[in-house]
Amino acid sequence: MKKVIIIGGGIAGLSAGCYAQMNGFDSEIYEMNNISGGLCTAWKRKDYLFDGCLHWLVGTSPANPFYRLWEELGALKGKKFFSYEYFNKIIDEDGRLFTAYVNPYRLREEMLEYSKEDKKLINKIADNMRCLMKIKMPLDFNLLSFFKLLPLIFIFRKYSMGATEFSSLFKNNILRKFIKHTFDWHDMSVAFILWTMALMADGDGQYVLGGALEFARTIESRYKELGGKIFFNKKVKEIIVKNDSAAGILLNDDTEVTGDFVISCADGYTTIFEWLKGNYLNNKIRKYYNELEPFPPLVYVSLGLNSDYSKAPCRLTLLLKKEIDVGGKKINKLECVNKSFDNILAKEGKGILHFIASADYSFWKNLYNNKDKYYETKNKIAEDMITAISEIYPEIRKHIEVIDIATPVTFERYTGNWKGSYEGWLLNKETMSLRLPITLPGLKNFYMAGHWLSPGGGLPSAALTARNAIRVLCHHNKIKFSTTTI
Ligand SMILES: Cc1cc2nc3c(=O)[nH]c(=O)nc-3n(C[C@H](O)[C@H](O)[C@H](O)COP(=O)(O)OP(=O)(O)OC[C@H]3O[C@@H](n4cnc5c(N)ncnc54)[C@H](O)[C@@H]3O)c2cc1C
Repeated sequence: MKKVIIIGGGIAGLSAGCYAQMNGFDSEIYEMNNISGGLCTAWKRKDYLFDGCLHWLVGTSPANPFYRLWEELGALKGKKFFSYEYFNKIIDEDGRLFTAYVNPYRLREEMLEYSKEDKKLINKIADNMRCLMKIKMPLDFNLLSFFKLLPLIFIFRKYSMGATEFSSLFKNNILRKFIKHTFDWHDMSVAFILWTMALMADGDGQYVLGGALEFARTIESRYKELGGKIFFNKKVKEIIVKNDSAAGILLNDDTEVTGDFVISCADGYTTIFEWLKGNYLNNKIRKYYNELEPFPPLVYVSLGLNSDYSKAPCRLTLLLKKEIDVGGKKINKLECVNKSFDNILAKEGKGILHFIASADYSFWKNLYNNKDKYYETKNKIAEDMITAISEIYPEIRKHIEVIDIATPVTFERYTGNWKGSYEGWLLNKETMSLRLPITLPGLKNFYMAGHWLSPGGGLPSAALTARNAIRVLCHHNKIKFSTTTI
């Protein structure tokens, strides 16, 4: 059996491992942390398991072709799901509430409550959402699937704009404000949010109870059942290349591991520019890394609460009367994700809230050199956020048992992702149909997978790029690609 070395035990690495085993390769995963999952993770603090990833998963409904991907990986085995009735609830500075229902009919009614004058536009949006609900993104592209996707491409182009531009289409001031904040989700295109809402309305895009780490562990179990081996606390510092052919990896402790093929499922920038020293590039790839914009990194504040918050909104945006400085960047709203409904993360009678804010990478990178200031700034941000949310939950301070604060540096340190990005490249008009190459020019026996290959990132992209990488590997070795155990 030919040996495949996989760098990184995130969702891409675990998935690459599963497909490699399914196709008769002997694979080994090298992961720098002591657990698998990468960004798809959670961390325990006292009684609370703080989930650092999962909000919704594309492919939880059997009607979605991505369900097959998760089935192949055994990822949904024994899982239960939480369906979203709304994408978000927004409370403005005057206490008005807007619920961004995922169901197009209910969303239409909610929008009309605020503005009859925008009826024509509101009806159009609801119609387009209904149309999006019918379109299923295929796992494997061919000419037929391209034609089936034409309506999706049409709608995506139409809504391929930022939240501010989109909201300016509305006449009513209050609705315009709510629309802006519904779709203003970390600089993503409005099209992507509409599509996510349509998926949720169609019974897909659910939350997987148990959260991210449990999800990753389920795929890790599948990988081990298939005979794969995973090595933890093994940090890669170089890819060994002999005669322009990948021959193995060099670990931090200078151990060499040799194999027939190397697949990097870790950070794209580090792989290409550091481990391969920029030796295998063309202008196109160089341009991507010079010009594309990664997802902004996050300040991620988690609260462990000694009280039941399971009935509070699962997603809430509070428009702030006073801006909060999150380090080189001021925010005028507080994004609050409530995971208290998941009893695996928060035991009964307890609550978990997360505040999520886009942050400035350079600010945090510099600040990290001054540890006192770094911790002081983190604590001040958490304090400001707690003060702000106290308007909605006046008793919250009394309930706080744990405060945990992750910054862009935490994400970078823990997962190696470039500039602390949490989903690879940003999805916008330019990157919508862009796919970065699985192989590098001039380098044999080497493949790449993971969210850096598919703008928009996310768990499905991580798994699908890994599936595609193994498919190409099989093709190069004249093996018929299989997605079942052989
Ligand atoms: C707050 C947050 C919310 C999110 N919400 C969602 C969501 O709701 N739905 C969704 O689909 N996606 C979501 N995502 C995105 C999703 O988590 C990522 O896109 C996905 O997990 C990326 O997987 P990956 O395997 O490509 O990369 P990674 O998870 O980054 O995996 C890379 C792996 O390589 C390892 N590695 C790096 N360097 C080395 C080295 N030198 N040696 C050895 N190993 C190394 C890392 O430790 C890591 O395990 C979210 C992410 C975050 C942070």
